[in-house]
Amino acid sequence: MSDCIFCRIVSGEIPADKVLETETVLAFRDIDPQSPTHVLLVPKHHLANLNDLATADPALIAELYSAAVAVAHREGVADSGYRTVINCNADGGQLVPHLHLHLLGGRRMQWPPG
Ligand code: 5GP
Ligand code: ZN
Repeated sequence: MSDCIFCRIVSGEIPADKVLETETVLAFRDIDPQSPTHVLLVPKHHLANLNDLATADPALIAELYSAAVAVAHREGVADSGYRTVINCNADGGQLVPHLHLHLLGGRRMQWPPG
C-alpha cells in the first residue's frame, strides 16, 4: 500500500515520532495533537478499518490495546486517565483509511464526544 500514509510511516518512508514498536504494532505521535498526549497505534500491515481487523486478525485487537496500555504507562497517564478511540468509516470520523487507535491523555476529556 505505497499510497497509504500510515504504511509509509511503518516502512520509514515518512518520518514519525515513534514511541513504541512491537512485532505487529507501531505507536507514534499524532501530527496534530488534540491533547498533551496524543499517540496513534497502528497495525504494521495494512488493514483499512476496525471491521477489517475483526475479520482478518481478531487477535491483533488484543495486541493493539496491550500496546496502548504500555504507551499510557510510558507517557505517565495510566493513573491520571486517558481515552482510546477507534474511528471507523465516514460516520465514525475516520479520515485515514489505515486502522489506528488514538490514545489521548494529559487533560480532562469531555463527554459526549462531538
Ligand atoms: P482519523 O480521523 O482518521 O481517526 O485520524 C487520523 C489522524 O491521523 C489525525 O488525528 C491526524 O492528525 C493524524 N495524521 C494524519 N496524517 C499524519 C501524518 O502524516 N503523521 C502523523 N503522525 N499523524 C497524521
Ligand atoms: Zn496502510
